[in-house]
Amino acid sequence: MSEKVEIMVFKCVSCDYLELYPYHCGRPMELQEERLVCWRGEHKPCCNSSSVLPLPQHHGETMKIHHALAELLPNKQVLIHEVLEN
Ligand SMILES: [Zn+2]
Ligand SMILES: [Zn+2]
Ligand SMILES: [Zn+2]
Repeated sequence: MSEKVEIMVFKCVSCDYLELYPYHCGRPMELQEERLVCWRGEHKPCCNSSSVLPLPQHHGETMKIHHALAELLPNKQVLIHEVLEN
């Protein structure tokens, strides 16, 4: 039995497409001036990704941050059950 946890996701404004909110160096990235920056600030790429990312887009529009209820599966996959309206 696994518990549901609240996570952050990006959701397309036009369809149901979801993306997990990115982490860097073990913590969620920070939203700064329309981009996502590692909590440690801009630094040399590590953790297999850049420390600064543009906000994700879908259908030509910037995706919106939502909270969602998800289940963390044993294989480290995240199963999103329900997107909460903000
Ligand atoms: Zn879309
Ligand atoms: Zn980092
Ligand atoms: Zn790192």
